Amino acid sequence: ATLVSRRVKSRRKWNRVVGVLRELEEGCSTSIGRLRQVVDAMAVEMHAGLASEGGSKLKMLLTFVDNLPDGNEKGTYYALDLGGTNFRVLRVQLGGKESRIIGHEVERQPIPQHLMTSTSEDLFDFIASAVKEFVVREGDNSGLQLDRRRELGCTFSFPMKQLSVSSGLLIKWTKGFAIKDMVGKDVAECLQQALAKGGLDMRVATLVNDSVGALALGHYDDEDTVAAVIIGTGSNACYVERTDAIIKCQGLLTNSGGMVVNMEWGNFWSSHLPRTSYDMDLDAESPNPNDMGFEKMISGMYLGDIVRRVILRMAQELDVFGDVASKLSEPFILRTPLIAAMHEDESPDLVEVSRILKDTLGINDIPLKVRKLIVRVCDVVTRRAARLAAAGIVGILKKIGRDGSGGVASGRSKSVGESLSKIRRTVVVIEGGLYSNYEMFREYLDEAVAEILGEEVAQHVVLKVIEDGSGIGAALLAAAASHPSTSVAH
Ligand code: BGC
Ligand code: MG
Repeated sequence: ATLVSRRVKSRRKWNRVVGVLRELEEGCSTSIGRLRQVVDAMAVEMHAGLASEGGSKLKMLLTFVDNLPDGNEKGTYYALDLGGTNFRVLRVQLGGKESRIIGHEVERQPIPQHLMTSTSEDLFDFIASAVKEFVVREGDNSGLQLDRRRELGCTFSFPMKQLSVSSGLLIKWTKGFAIKDMVGKDVAECLQQALAKGGLDMRVATLVNDSVGALALGHYDDEDTVAAVIIGTGSNACYVERTDAIIKCQGLLTNSGGMVVNMEWGNFWSSHLPRTSYDMDLDAESPNPNDMGFEKMISGMYLGDIVRRVILRMAQELDVFGDVASKLSEPFILRTPLIAAMHEDESPDLVEVSRILKDTLGINDIPLKVRKLIVRVCDVVTRRAARLAAAGIVGILKKIGRDGSGGVASGRSKSVGESLSKIRRTVVVIEGGLYSNYEMFREYLDEAVAEILGEEVAQHVVLKVIEDGSGIGAALLAAAASHPSTSVAH
């Protein structure tokens, strides 16, 4: 009798764990209907954010970038890319129309954890000295001549209120950074001071968001590029907008009639987003509660932690996890690359999943059927993220009339087929580890974009991975700012 009752008990437990998964699947549902609502909401919020300051959770920030690089840029430029898990220093040699990018050197360094919550002076002194070391080591043609003036494009991957293309005030921190004295300060000025203190004659020629850097490189490579999306540690998008559509800034004039707008889409919110109790807990316990709701559902900093929370929930129902209270309860212990590795474990008995559970969480001997459940959790969380990001992208296409609906709705064309053939080729570049390194994520995103747009329209939309775009793009923009030559296409 005890054996039977034990079996019944364990079956009940198992059913409850499966129940946790089912509930998660329902909570994360991204049916095509729901995705369409998210698309519409994104386009509506974009309008609202452009209409008035504070008109939407989407800040739709002006960048003052109205010249995107076109290939004529020449010379040696430096770039600094700060704002994710790593920071990068780059040197880019540009050879003009014919030879394009002759070469570039990149150096990546993790940002020491303590500097992310220290003072602005500590952070920028550290960065300035890394830049200096890089300049010395890479020794350009002028050798170690440190007093030669160099031009620097700075990428700063946080929301800024730009005052010009080379200055901007930090609005707030995201992604776990929290340097209080920095908020409201001019990022370029802080950097410029630190560089001067370090004895380096470098001019901060441009200060841009990483999405803007990515767009710059995208456009340099392919003039049909109209938007850039970042899906790495954090998430964001920018695109080229007509100045007359930027209603909150009356009388804004640029030669090109366009300007790049930094959406800060990480802060997008809509009641149509499929939100679960795990998302709410994650938000409440994050350093920035009630902020960056979209980012917390789709970006690399958070996906692993959503999965961790679900596994913790399962562990509370099942005793196979042993005493896991300690490690599994530790926020951010399960990083997103590990989620990807578990998700993409193709071995029949999921050895990689076992290894990760053991190495990261210290839990051994998880039965295969539970390991399979964990893979399902990774799948559900990642799929939702990828499909929501896809809806965001289509939202942008809709706003700029590249989603195929404008032409048809305008009623001018005689047939749907005819208007579809008029859709211009549209390139969206995507940068960030989630899209470039996590194959399942990329597949889900690509698939969802095609699903929402429909095959015919999707044929005209190219999603392209780019690497180091935010850094190289900043160097290109620094070059373009020194020798303006072209205008933004729109
Ligand atoms: C920041 C954006 C940035 C994005 C990707 C977000 O947390 O607010 O400015 O572009 O991360 O790095
Ligand atoms: Mg980055």
